[in-house]
Amino acid sequence: MEAQDHDYSYNLVDAEMEENKLHITVQRGRSLPPVKRCSCCPSPQYHCPFCGPGFFKPTKLSKIKIHMTGHFNKAVCYGDYTIHR
Ligand SMILES: [Zn+2]
Ligand SMILES: [Zn+2]
Repeated sequence: MEAQDHDYSYNLVDAEMEENKLHITVQRGRSLPPVKRCSCCPSPQYHCPFCGPGFFKPTKLSKIKIHMTGHFNKAVCYGDYTIHR
């Protein structure tokens, strides 16, 4: 899976056809992608996998969890998948 940020042109038809390489915003079931502590910041932080560091500043775990919950609440269920936006 490639890490792309801000590919909002991705559409649902493609998501269905390319099941093997789903976009990061498409998660099987009702789930969020895991967030990992990064090694790119001066002190390890958590990045939003959807937003990219330019939009959502890397932050600590408690903050990223709140942020990710916000994504989850806005997500759209599509068959067996959850589409985040
Ligand atoms: Zn970082
Ligand atoms: Zn985000």
